[in-house]
Amino acid sequence: MNKETLKKNLREIPDFPIPGILFYDVTTLFKNAECLQEMIDSLYELYKDKGITKVVGIESRGFILGGALAARLGAGFIMARKPGKLPAEVLEETYAKEYGTDTIQIHKDAINENDVVLLHDDLLATGGTMAATLRLVNKAGAKKAYVNFVIELEKLNGRKAFPADVDITTFLKL
Ligand code: IMP
Repeated sequence: MNKETLKKNLREIPDFPIPGILFYDVTTLFKNAECLQEMIDSLYELYKDKGITKVVGIESRGFILGGALAARLGAGFIMARKPGKLPAEVLEETYAKEYGTDTIQIHKDAINENDVVLLHDDLLATGGTMAATLRLVNKAGAKKAYVNFVIELEKLNGRKAFPADVDITTFLKL
């Protein structure tokens, strides 16, 4: 992965969604054909020999590369979504946010005990969203789970939200 090209194309938006927050806008990485291809190729190289059978993408920016990678790997794609979006029976996990709680769901029949799963999202901040999704995937009985983010905000120490033995990769550390 050409990290400098990615860094150069990542847009930073001050005071979004609220004053004081610096938001990293990955839409500019998806818009750029070279960056998009680079991210998909790098993910493919990392995970092509892991026997991945399902990629789980987290709503909504995790759907973009997650879907592309699933197609490249010949794996299935699963959407992890906010409550009220998935039409069939769901498994869910609730997790603490800075203010209040949030809930993430997958379909009950999305994953089984034969699945080797890659969970993917655009950005690791506190890790709460992904750690809850990982608990969901484990609850569903996955044989093995890997975790990937494009961007890691290192100062927030999001890796601490995960058990020590979880295999986590990130491309850009900011
Ligand atoms: P966490 O649960 O605190 O790790 O927050 C990660 C979730 O919030 C991911 O689903 C991200 O898409 C989203 N998120 C938080 N900050 C940013 C940002 O600066 N840019 C893009 N997404 C963000």
